[in-house]
Amino acid sequence: MPEGDSKRKLADFSVRESKIHGQGVFAKQAFLKGDIVLEIDDSDPVLDRGKLTPEQEIFIDVFVAVDGKQKTTWMKSPERFINHSCEPNTYVLTDMRSGVRRTWALKNIRRGDELTWDYALNIWEEWIGPVPCHCGAENCRRIIRGNYFTLPREIQRRYLPLLDEPFKKRFTKEIQSLNLTGEHDPA
Ligand SMILES: [Zn+2]
Repeated sequence: MPEGDSKRKLADFSVRESKIHGQGVFAKQAFLKGDIVLEIDDSDPVLDRGKLTPEQEIFIDVFVAVDGKQKTTWMKSPERFINHSCEPNTYVLTDMRSGVRRTWALKNIRRGDELTWDYALNIWEEWIGPVPCHCGAENCRRIIRGNYFTLPREIQRRYLPLLDEPFKKRFTKEIQSLNLTGEHDPA
């Protein structure tokens, strides 16, 4: 095993042409729901986001880090190629001790399946776009736009247990004001 590789390499993936968009990331092995799929490399911070071109913006990740602060990083391969799906098979969780972010299998993933996540999950900024979605899911939202707070209410509710801890902490009030667990929803 190459030095320095042991921490991050949990499994192998192939990056190749995707039916969803451009290149995608495909599993070379099966995962069961609840498995760790990969560890995200957050080692390369974006130093001056204001100077990025729209083309560069596509390859950055903006998230709430374990210390509660906003962090912007250059996404590394393979995760930078993970496509959006409205019915994703992975989601991201931060290890609150180490601060390491990992993607977890949201459902069973077969060998050869494309890995996907929902670009609106744990997001509070307006996403670049809107762009049409070709994820092929039955419940496809057709357009990738917005963030967690602009998702349809039933999706916000479905994603509530999937929200990452640092995001939940930073946006506690905003999430509460969505009243997703309330029993007084207008019919
Ligand atoms: Zn879709």
